[in-house]
Amino acid sequence: MAGPLKLLLASAEVHPYSKTGGLADMVAALAKALAKAGHQVGLVTPLYKGIRQAHPGLRHFDWQLDLPLGNRRVQARVWTAKPRPGLTLYFIDQPEFFQRDGLYTDGRGEYLDNAERFVFLGKCVANLARYLPWQPQLVHVHDWHVGAVPLLLRHQARHEGWAKPPATCLTIHNLAYQGQYASSHYWSTNASWEFFHTAGAEFYGDFNLLKAAIAFSDGITTVSPRYAREITTPEFGCGLDGILRARHSVLTGILNGVDYDEWRTTKNDYLVKPYSARDLQGKAENKLALQKELGLRPSAKVPLFGSVTRLAHQKGLDIALPALETLLDQPLQFALLGSGSREYQVAFESLARRYPGQVAVRIGYDAGLSHRIEAGSDFFLMPSRFEPCGLNQMYSLRYGTLPIVRAVGGLDDSVTDLRDDPLRANGIKFHEYTTGALVKAMRKALALYEAPDLLNHMRRNGMLMDFSWEHTAREYVAVYERILFGA
Ligand code: ADP
Repeated sequence: MAGPLKLLLASAEVHPYSKTGGLADMVAALAKALAKAGHQVGLVTPLYKGIRQAHPGLRHFDWQLDLPLGNRRVQARVWTAKPRPGLTLYFIDQPEFFQRDGLYTDGRGEYLDNAERFVFLGKCVANLARYLPWQPQLVHVHDWHVGAVPLLLRHQARHEGWAKPPATCLTIHNLAYQGQYASSHYWSTNASWEFFHTAGAEFYGDFNLLKAAIAFSDGITTVSPRYAREITTPEFGCGLDGILRARHSVLTGILNGVDYDEWRTTKNDYLVKPYSARDLQGKAENKLALQKELGLRPSAKVPLFGSVTRLAHQKGLDIALPALETLLDQPLQFALLGSGSREYQVAFESLARRYPGQVAVRIGYDAGLSHRIEAGSDFFLMPSRFEPCGLNQMYSLRYGTLPIVRAVGGLDDSVTDLRDDPLRANGIKFHEYTTGALVKAMRKALALYEAPDLLNHMRRNGMLMDFSWEHTAREYVAVYERILFGA
């Protein structure tokens, strides 16, 4: 194994500074685990509205960015944070692009200048990669927002006298989000048009930032082994399965880890009572407290299904709603925390109105409540259409809450059904994307609730699973070393 590596990561979201989903959790935890393992890590991310107020310790960094963006020049400042030894965050302070209420959208939809905002972010990453005195060996970009970076590095190597740019790695967190824009936006890269072709940044005439990263990165990872296989098929490939098959030899699936410093059932201020695999009593108290908090009828006897999710097409809500309608004449409760599509919001709120005391719906983003739902529920619903990794089912496992999942992506890789392995079972899986299949899976959960010994056996199996980041970070380092040294 080689010595410590010098790594520059880049992501549009980093927990706890900004977050809309699992991307933020994963990047923060990976950066932390890599630094903990002794590597030198930088992480570039935008300075969104409110970050400086919430994190007053950020320092102004003596670095003035003044970069071309199409036919104009755009300036930015940089702020830094050093949350632990070996890790420096670089926040790109460009008020016109990043001081907004949302990260990617306002109430009406995507910001119209997202292509420029994120190509600019990519340019800042490339600039830091080139001129930071500690000279990163490898730049690791996450998702489409920073997808321009590998292309920009190649362009600068070929045309702007950068003799030895760092190697590049892309992690695909979700292939459904690609950053696809009209070809005219390619001008904002100021890169040569030689990269704009069907095996490069071009996708059916458009400029596609994720495709550019897939084409020009030295290595590619995605967030679970099963998703790595799925995305090379037309069913899950979102139109990019062809280029992914072509780059198959550099594509690796690595299951995300869990930050157990944060997601824990003991010493967790969000929970009313600690508990563990050895002593599950506290879990019952968390359930009772959650029922009271959400206005559900307090009862230990009634099984409680929970869900914390983006209200998005991906998440299987169109089968969850009718499945719940089918089963709600039975004694069961349902608690949902989510935000996103207005259509789903209205549908769930209507369900809560029609089943008071039995269904509770909270719209919004609430970290504390997400922990309490994980801890207080008996079962956790994740009937996703597709799921690159999914973190919530892994949080559920640690919280002794049996995940009910569709067998796709990381859900399939992390959950074991009774039918597959009775000894190691830790959740309930179904295969077909239908309301009927989900109803059947939920009925199994209801039956399991009547068999407490088996239920507790499965809970403990889940709680004892270890998805810790030390292991996951080692897999990333192995990928970096393969890219850098062909190891
Ligand atoms: P995705 O990244 O597709 O949204 P994941 O399961 O990988 O799905 O990660 C979701 C992350 O976002 C988890 O940490 C989850 O707890 C959190 N989350 C999602 N919606 C909310 C919400 N409304 N409030 C609090 N946390 C949320």
